[in-house]
Amino acid sequence: MQRGVSLKLSGGILFVFSGPSGVGKGTVLDRLFEKYDGVEYSISMTTRPPRDHEENGEDYYFVEEDEFERIKAEEGFIEWAEVHGYLYGTPKKFVKEALEAGKDVILEIDIQGARQVRKIFPEAVFIFLEPPSFSALEKRLASRDSEDNEMRKLRLENARKEIEEASRYDYRVVNDDIDETAERLIGIFEKEKNR
Ligand code: 5GP
Repeated sequence: MQRGVSLKLSGGILFVFSGPSGVGKGTVLDRLFEKYDGVEYSISMTTRPPRDHEENGEDYYFVEEDEFERIKAEEGFIEWAEVHGYLYGTPKKFVKEALEAGKDVILEIDIQGARQVRKIFPEAVFIFLEPPSFSALEKRLASRDSEDNEMRKLRLENARKEIEEASRYDYRVVNDDIDETAERLIGIFEKEKNR
């Protein structure tokens, strides 16, 4: 948890998007950004090594642990957490500047990060993406070839914990169909902007 974070929402809305590993958050956001440019995506920093298709500065900022720790010590993160053995954090500068410029920002972060953001920005809008069923999630995780069995087990255990937290979110969206899910998210953004 970062101390001394004193950010104010001045115009922009902060959206926090969470959901268990394998629910399709990345795919949904890719589809969303094909259709909609009304919200800025905050690129997280992580010590996890990149997967095959991932690009530095696009999917994440991939850094070594000492670099992450240095930024953490300088209070450069809005929030950070350890997920599946790696560190993940939301760089403060981008979010702060975007919100101050009146832009809306979306953070794709886990439930631990969302809890921290809830304390700093109680007025943020929290959206949780749910799988149609737990067995659908198991199938999706099993079909991912980038993870070994141990990692898959860890992600599945973590997914149960994540789903238990869903009731704390403002919106719960079931990801049955990617296009419908993207449209529902756009609907939520528009509704919140017009409040
Ligand atoms: P993955 O390694 O599969 O990309 O992400 C693993 C988990 O880390 C996901 O639940 C994702 O939402 C979460 N995550 C990604 N970036 C951040 C971040 O900046 N902060 C926190 N707390 N979680 C993050």
